[in-house]
Amino acid sequence: MKSKCDKGWHDGSCCCNCRHHIKLVKHPWNESIGKGPISEQMGYACTGFFSVGEMVATFFDINHEHGMCELHHHKQEDNE
Ligand SMILES: [Zn+2]
Repeated sequence: MKSKCDKGWHDGSCCCNCRHHIKLVKHPWNESIGKGPISEQMGYACTGFFSVGEMVATFFDINHEHGMCELHHHKQEDNE
């Protein structure tokens, strides 16, 4: 059963249930942005462009858990 979110698209598709939307954590080697322990989250990354052959990930800050785009691919889709 697919999880749905009311903060994304009207059919329940949202960044928070998309397989391309991954958590980004901090790292102590960073000098400013994202400096900290790996147990702390700094934001999110979207790997949606991988699905169209681009090895590019987009960075989102911690306030952008939810959203919607045309590259949405539901997390549970491949297990059904
Ligand atoms: Zn959501």
